[in-house]
Amino acid sequence: MSSRCAFVSNLIPFSCVDGPGSRLALFLQGCNLRCKSCHNPWTIGRCNHCGDCVPACPHQALAFDGGQVQWNALTCQQCDTCLQMCPQQATPMAPAMSVEEVVAKIRKAALFIDGITVSGGEATLQLPFLHALFSALRADLQLCRLTCLVDSNGMLSETGWHKLLPVCDGAMIDLKAWSSEHHRFLTGRDNTPVKNSLRLLAAQNKLAELRLLVIPQHSDYLLYIDALAAFICELGRIPVRLNAFHAHGVYGEAKSWRSATEEDIEQLAEALQQRGVTTLLRPALYL
Ligand code: SF4
Ligand code: SF4
Repeated sequence: MSSRCAFVSNLIPFSCVDGPGSRLALFLQGCNLRCKSCHNPWTIGRCNHCGDCVPACPHQALAFDGGQVQWNALTCQQCDTCLQMCPQQATPMAPAMSVEEVVAKIRKAALFIDGITVSGGEATLQLPFLHALFSALRADLQLCRLTCLVDSNGMLSETGWHKLLPVCDGAMIDLKAWSSEHHRFLTGRDNTPVKNSLRLLAAQNKLAELRLLVIPQHSDYLLYIDALAAFICELGRIPVRLNAFHAHGVYGEAKSWRSATEEDIEQLAEALQQRGVTTLLRPALYL
């Protein structure tokens, strides 16, 4: 089995919100977008071992050893002090895990799950690990029944998808804005790669879900509704999940943005339905 490693910010053995059925969800550290609406902004950066958070830990769970910050999971009280003060939007609590270690965790949960979802941060930034993990599951007689999904921002290149798709059952992709200009405002990057990924995945029958994030006064979907609906219809009958923005956990200007209500979601849902997009999934709850 591969000894490739990835920086893992969280592993949830049983999740019912990270794809269909019950799934083990693995969250990898680091992202190539800078979304103002990110609910887990400390998963964006990578720790550079500056050491700033070490003396700030109120429970002495951090130490500086050989130029590296060491995190003690046993003494950590999950108070999040280190996350809130990190200048890199990173965490000292994202240890490197090998494919073998992750597969061992999956094996323990295997009887109770339908598959695994690798999320982030941006999972595809650690593509060699992702490929090795999915390949290891495919090759394992006991685990090969598990479906392997990736939850991605869609920035991966065509070449990257062609490497991953032979061992991946599908991807769930966010389209944060329709226009490139507004996408840059919300995420820091142009959305052309995201649209290309959506087309490629749909053509390969591997687009598990398209996600739209409704942010009142800060989404442009209704402004470009005809173009957006036509684009989605061209992808085929794919599930379209409408997510409701809420400010919990976000940093910066988005803290003051209003949460999306059921009315906000229904306004977009109705506009899409009128234009032929009928495979809509709505939020289970509003915060
Ligand atoms: S988590 Fe942030 S503050 Fe702590 S050592 Fe790493 S970069 Fe520095
Ligand atoms: S969350 Fe961070 S600051 Fe809080 S106890 Fe754990 S390591 Fe220390």
